[in-house]
Amino acid sequence: MKDVEQAAGILLVGEEACAELVGRKDAFDAVEAVFGAMAAGDARNFPVVREALGHEGALYGFKSGFDRAGMVLGVKAGGYWPGNMERGLTNHQSTVCLFDSDTGRLSALVGGNYLTAVRTAASSAVSIAHLARKDSRVLGMIGAGHQSAFQLRAAVEQRSFERVVAWNPHPEMLPKLGAVAAELGLPFEAVSAEEVCAQADVIITITSAFEPLLMKDWVRPGTHIACMGTDTKGKMEVDAALVAAATVFTDEVAQSVSIGEAQHAVAAGLLGEVDIVPIGAVINGAHPGRVTDAEITLFDGTGVGLQDLAVASVAARLAQETGKASRVVL
Ligand code: NAD
Repeated sequence: MKDVEQAAGILLVGEEACAELVGRKDAFDAVEAVFGAMAAGDARNFPVVREALGHEGALYGFKSGFDRAGMVLGVKAGGYWPGNMERGLTNHQSTVCLFDSDTGRLSALVGGNYLTAVRTAASSAVSIAHLARKDSRVLGMIGAGHQSAFQLRAAVEQRSFERVVAWNPHPEMLPKLGAVAAELGLPFEAVSAEEVCAQADVIITITSAFEPLLMKDWVRPGTHIACMGTDTKGKMEVDAALVAAATVFTDEVAQSVSIGEAQHAVAAGLLGEVDIVPIGAVINGAHPGRVTDAEITLFDGTGVGLQDLAVASVAARLAQETGKASRVVL
């Protein structure tokens, strides 16, 4: 028995290898497939654990699940340490453990920091691919933190965007995002939040807001909004009336109503849980998605464990194929 375990070993795939190996297209394909599997009942997220440690102001928890279609089983452990920046570390820290779904044996340990950003960007990109109007030309960005550059890079690959308009509660952060747009060859303009809504065909929100930043009356018919920042109870990026006026899609309905952007509209009785469509149903062809050019579509991207496992399993496979992983035996 020991020989079998030693021959298999455990793959170690570090942050650098993940960034080198897992591209945006890999992440898009993995996330799209797992959203489809979730909606088909082939993949399931397990209850999330998230606790305040009472130490270093940290939030710590686990996201786990099983994708029977892809045979991916695992858990992402980690959280948020607000003081890390001063130590030269990323505030969000996570690691993915993958297990052999036939035996339960630990098969890989994969760095989760880069993968979290790339899978979150893939999630909104999948929503744009399936829900935004085909003639979308102006991309609006609300937010300019760590995730925003990943979001921008993934979004511009989905439609023929001609320019970017952006607003952030902390305007001094916007030039860094502007530099990414410049690198992508897109004109970039910092404007008010209201002006973002007046100009953009697609809007991504990726902030840590607890109050609405976008109001219903500002948003034009036909806009697609990907709300990506709200992943915790109490957070909020858009007016509940805007959520209620839109056709709402999500990665997972249970998270959307509890920790996602829809939590407030549902709590206020403006939106029913049954009105929220899993985006996997659109991917699988069971729901038509956007039906008219005038409809406002809103994607509530709450971030599910299966997304992490999907991209981590791509990283493990590619690391194995290219010899970029080390292997240890416990
Ligand atoms: P960051 O700390 O690098 O940037 C924070 C962003 O939020 C900046 O744009 C900042 O100006 C803004 N902000 C900070 N405090 C604010 C406040 N009180 N009100 C309004 N805006 C505020 O964070 P990040 O890594 O870019 O993450 C942004 C958000 O995305 C966070 O809320 C994070 O939890 C969330 N997130 C979601 C997913 C998901 O899967 N949905 C995944 C990763 C991160």
